Amino acid sequence: MLTEATVRPATITAWMTEIAVAVRAQRDRLTQLDAAIGDGDHGTNMVRGFDAVEQALAGQRRDLPPGQLLILSGKTLVATVGGASGPLWGSALRRAGRSLGDAAEIDGAQLAAAVDGALAGIQELGAAAVGEKTIVDALEPAAAALRHAVGARQPLARAVDAAAAAAEEGARATLPLQARKGRASYLGERSIGHQDPGATSAALIMRALERVVSRED
Ligand code: ADP
Ligand code: MG
Repeated sequence: MLTEATVRPATITAWMTEIAVAVRAQRDRLTQLDAAIGDGDHGTNMVRGFDAVEQALAGQRRDLPPGQLLILSGKTLVATVGGASGPLWGSALRRAGRSLGDAAEIDGAQLAAAVDGALAGIQELGAAAVGEKTIVDALEPAAAALRHAVGARQPLARAVDAAAAAAEEGARATLPLQARKGRASYLGERSIGHQDPGATSAALIMRALERVVSRED
């Protein structure tokens, strides 16, 4: 039942670790994608940021509420990542964290609201809409899929799998798009034909959540 509390503080810590593992494994690919339409630092940025998040969380009490862990993670990203992805994901995680308040455990509906909050944080800061070849192209469909699956009372692991699959599809769909926001937009039509690095790492972030949730189920 989805209304059961399923995401605990340990889930958030495990999620951040899983993201760090994923971006480390995909660092070269993210960097290559960014080299094609940006400045070639996206892999480095994400690895630096989530390494720092892992370290910051390791020094915390194990029982801090999920919301507080997300806020700390977001602040850490802002403090450690120089590229656009740092403030964007920083704002995303802080907004997600704030939406959870001090709840000790969260259910599927709260998780969906947190992902909606993450998307809102990114759009508030970056003002990108779907189709502009950014993180939003992966995160918006992921948030919608999660909301929909939770509303349909699917088990949490399946709901998060639907969200991750939607993010992956959204990331792939950036390939033919022309970038309208961020550094890649300077390339104009030459940004067409490459998958967006930020949308690609956003899909890694959602898949990392799915791995953690399905492990705990
Ligand atoms: P920088 O562009 O500063 O080098 P990164 O390489 O770490 O930063 O991140 C690049 C990614 O950031 C892009 O691929 C894109 O997905 C994302 N991005 C850039 N601008 C925006 C924006 N305004 N809204 C959402 N995502 C954005
Ligand atoms: Mg870059």
